[in-house]
Amino acid sequence: METSTPRGSSWPAVPDTERRVLLELLVHGALPRVRIAERLGMSRTSLSRITRTLLDAQLIAEGSSVPLGGRGRPAESLHLRHDAAHFAGIKLTAETMYLVLTDLRAQPVAEVERALHSRAVPDVVALIADSITEAAARGTGRARSTGSSGSSGVVDVVGVGIAVAGDIRPSAEGLLLRHSNFLGWDAVPLGQLVSAATGLPATVVNDVHALAGAHHWFGSDASHRSLVVFGVGAGIGSGVVIDGVLHPGAHGRAGRVGHTRIGGKGRRCENGHLDCVHSFVTIPATEHNAGVAPGEHALALARARRGEERALRAFQAAARALGAVVADAVNAFDPEAVAIMGEGVDMLDVAPEHAHAAMSEFLEQGDPDDVPVQRPPFTFGLYARGAAVAAMRELLSS
Ligand SMILES: [Zn+2]
Repeated sequence: METSTPRGSSWPAVPDTERRVLLELLVHGALPRVRIAERLGMSRTSLSRITRTLLDAQLIAEGSSVPLGGRGRPAESLHLRHDAAHFAGIKLTAETMYLVLTDLRAQPVAEVERALHSRAVPDVVALIADSITEAAARGTGRARSTGSSGSSGVVDVVGVGIAVAGDIRPSAEGLLLRHSNFLGWDAVPLGQLVSAATGLPATVVNDVHALAGAHHWFGSDASHRSLVVFGVGAGIGSGVVIDGVLHPGAHGRAGRVGHTRIGGKGRRCENGHLDCVHSFVTIPATEHNAGVAPGEHALALARARRGEERALRAFQAAARALGAVVADAVNAFDPEAVAIMGEGVDMLDVAPEHAHAAMSEFLEQGDPDDVPVQRPPFTFGLYARGAAVAAMRELLSS
């Protein structure tokens, strides 16, 4: 049994200006000193002082010289030491705890997956704490090859993020997880409980917001100042980036889209609608509307691809619902781009023209072709990586 624990590892106290430099390097990769000074509006002298602190703390390193504009002198670049710190990201579902340890590029160095034998809060918190210890020990070999093994013999974990479907609401006691229907939890101070159990800073984040934050920093063009990311699967939600910042909303509910009534008749949603976006767009709705049993999404998809009418209509209706909800988001935020991710986006392959037509129908004005819609590669592990990114964000941009 591994006796070392991640307890006691910590992110060095870094003043605000230093943190801004770290954030630039995290999001944009290696940058010449002159470019960093420009971007942050600071003098070369100030930047030199700041980078000295960060070099001494071994958070950044001097990179290879990059010629600027092809004619100037080579400029000295700086880059983040991606292995200087590791973060634990966790995605909780009704059945499973999935944990990933990542480096500062959000690249996984270890993973742990455990069934939830109990949904009692203390049991889940204990499972998370044990799994962090296990992953930190397991990540050592992998991290050692890149020279980042901590002196304690385990990977240094400096922060924890937990992604859950539910509202994450600020309160006097910190963030509270509200209305987590999958887990049957309400008003749980999950971050504080995990922090107490692990001795690490811990934060909790809505799972679709986690996906959006990770896509903004690491999956998309990080220069985007505004972005709406949809997560489509068992449910539908979205995360909104405005002015370069992920907005969780005043009550943790930003991006709760999907009850717009769009006509037709589909599966009854939890609000009792038969004709809202939820009635058509989610995996359970598509299964129901295609006439297959719950869990037989793949069968419904195969039937739709063969052109069987009922299944095909279900996917066409899902595509129309998705087009409608994307149009709503564009009407509300006018983002530079929209990204659609999740386990349930096959309707865009089966019936892309229905999504496009719905955007034309529901956009307040403008041409659907003006809105860049991205479909980034998706794996379920991205939720946990997104949670790790939320932990990074907590340390770097708060
Ligand atoms: Zn509804």
